[in-house]
Amino acid sequence: MKPGYEAVIGLEVHVQLRTRSKMFCACRNAYGAPPNALTCPVCLGLPGALPVLNAQAVSMALSLGLALEAKIRPQSTFYRKQYFYPDLPKGYQITQGPVAIVEEGHLDIPGDARVRGKEGPVRIRLERAHLEEDAGKSHHDLEVSVSHVDLNRAGVPLLELVGAPDLRSAQEASDYLKALHRLVVALGICDGNMEEGSFRCDANVSVRRTEDAAFGPRVEVKNLNSFRFVRQALDHELDRQTVLMERGELVRMETRGWDAARGETRGQRTKEAAMDYRYFPEPDLPPLTVSPAEVEAARAALPELPEQRIHRWREAHGLGLDEAQALAQNPAFAAYYETLARTSGSGRGAAAWMLGEVSRTLNDRGIGIEAFPVAPEVLAELVALVEARTLAFGTAKDQVFPALLGGEERAETIVTRLGLRQVNDRGTVEALVTQVLAANPGPVAQIRGGKESLKGFLVGQILKAGQGRLDARLVNEILDTLLAKS
Ligand code: ADP
Ligand code: MG
Ligand code: ZN
Repeated sequence: MKPGYEAVIGLEVHVQLRTRSKMFCACRNAYGAPPNALTCPVCLGLPGALPVLNAQAVSMALSLGLALEAKIRPQSTFYRKQYFYPDLPKGYQITQGPVAIVEEGHLDIPGDARVRGKEGPVRIRLERAHLEEDAGKSHHDLEVSVSHVDLNRAGVPLLELVGAPDLRSAQEASDYLKALHRLVVALGICDGNMEEGSFRCDANVSVRRTEDAAFGPRVEVKNLNSFRFVRQALDHELDRQTVLMERGELVRMETRGWDAARGETRGQRTKEAAMDYRYFPEPDLPPLTVSPAEVEAARAALPELPEQRIHRWREAHGLGLDEAQALAQNPAFAAYYETLARTSGSGRGAAAWMLGEVSRTLNDRGIGIEAFPVAPEVLAELVALVEARTLAFGTAKDQVFPALLGGEERAETIVTRLGLRQVNDRGTVEALVTQVLAANPGPVAQIRGGKESLKGFLVGQILKAGQGRLDARLVNEILDTLLAKS
């Protein structure tokens, strides 16, 4: 941001709930079925069909609310939000709108020190989270001048999370969104697939002069279906608004769409053209009531939350924030790490392997950790061998790890069979170092004369003489001692 200006951002996130059936009918809630295969009179909006609320969706809303330390309303209401669109067969959407089951929660994220003026976490408030149903999907690009409507998604349960305007940079917005994503996936209430639209975000953005108390007029940016787009779209939109303000022009309240191909936001409709949805209470559904016992049961069923886990790992294993967050982004990955850290006895070593070789392998093969061929207990032996300095890291990575991927069962066996054990024996290393020093009198003299940079060359020679099996730390230590003697 330009000095003198401040960004104000509030996110509205739509979380598609991973329930077995849809929100108000028994149709299966699934992605990718043949068009209109998952429909019935209720979600098609046929006259006389009656909605019945999905209890699983309610319990998922409770877990999210409790994880965000929010209030759970003992009684909330469903409304009809009326508008016309081909993918909305009933002519209205059933939504809780403002009277939500979840209110006033919060999520702590690492603050953006560049705009906050200090390091440390900041608290982002959640205004509310309400239940509603999704609409179907229109396809305008399957055929020229014909539109298709697929109603498989009509009636799929959504939880809309309305965040307070507490975010102060695109970076914070993306950190907040990632933390929410980790959370809903860890709670098992959402599959988190952003490309399929299971986790969608609209961003409200405004800019104010730092001396102003009031917020500026806000622009809503729609359709941000990746973390990268969120950052790019917000940075672009903040720039656009700042330039207008510098020119003394007004920022219009409007809805803009992110055009990823052009890398810019584009006007869609102004607030003046906003529709009147003529909300009224849904007559076919009773009020939604939640008893204290249901709240307590949901609280007791909460798993360890990603932010707690990140904190615990940082304390126990000395991990960096970025490392811990990367390990926690996906529950299966986190579980693998947890086992690897425990069985190898090294949280740091396990983290380095997970974020290094393991991630590289998953990326190369385009698979998730669920399909990774090596069990954590098996990889743990390799990690432990490196940590104990029985095996050089390079050898572990280039020879033993591929053998494990190829199906060999134990790191120890591979190391013994190939004779890869690291040489830690002081006498052996000393003899090799002495040999290499004797063979390189020129460089040795130069180093002693102050040309320290040549030391790397000698280390290389020594490691080569040891066929890559020497402990590099020991080599350096002995080399320094011998060079110091003249
Ligand atoms: P609406 O009903 O029009 O959607 P809300 O009060 O529900 O309005 O707010 C929607 C979102 O806009 C919230 O996420 C909120 O944090 C955000 N918001 C409100 N005012 C501003 C502002 N001036 N700048 C940026 N975001 C804002
Ligand atoms: Mg809104
Ligand atoms: Zn249905």
